[in-house]
Amino acid sequence: MKEQGQALAQSLDRAWQELVATARRTVADGLVVGTSGNVSVRVGEDIVLVTPSGVPYERLGPRDVVAVDLDGTRHAGSLAPTSELPMHLAIYRNTDARAVVHTHAVHATAVSTLVPELPPVHYMTAALGGIVRVAPYATYGTEELAENMLTALADRTGCLLQNHGTVTYGNTLSQAYDRTAQLEWMCRLWLTAHSVPGLTPSLLTGEQLDEVGERLRGYGQQAPPS
Ligand SMILES: [Zn+2]
Repeated sequence: MKEQGQALAQSLDRAWQELVATARRTVADGLVVGTSGNVSVRVGEDIVLVTPSGVPYERLGPRDVVAVDLDGTRHAGSLAPTSELPMHLAIYRNTDARAVVHTHAVHATAVSTLVPELPPVHYMTAALGGIVRVAPYATYGTEELAENMLTALADRTGCLLQNHGTVTYGNTLSQAYDRTAQLEWMCRLWLTAHSVPGLTPSLLTGEQLDEVGERLRGYGQQAPPS
């Protein structure tokens, strides 16, 4: 029992280090300004580590771990979890996600104010499961926002939140992070193409996206996307 406890403590320590590194990366890469945005990772079946509310990521140390159960009950730590905890927990309760990244990335947020879904200007749309939807606006931190987000995430690993930002999830923190970076990049691409006066960007068809989706699922045996 004691050894099991130690093993859990070690995996929580490792997961916390990786979570803090990922959160800092969102700031360093310009996806987040200040303490907006948040990151979480699931450890074992029942524990979720999340960034705390209102603490700059560069100040987070090993003792600042915030751990909750899937119902939001505090498991460890004294800092308050992110106010967006309902979104993170909704994803873990309803998908096979192991990590979630939420940002206020500028191009993605701009797109969320313009359209109900991101027009498929690039085949990496398929890497998020298909055309990326925009979840209708609701106040941050509410169950209503978490519900709108879940609906937008059906069969997808990422979505936009209207007038707010991005949410993506993955099997690992680096996969969830990479999906956010790809989503922000695609939003920037669409805004760039869309803003050329007198011209309209060409969009990919459902069939073209399905074909890429099939290739990506066989990723490893076939040529990687380039
Ligand atoms: Zn937010």
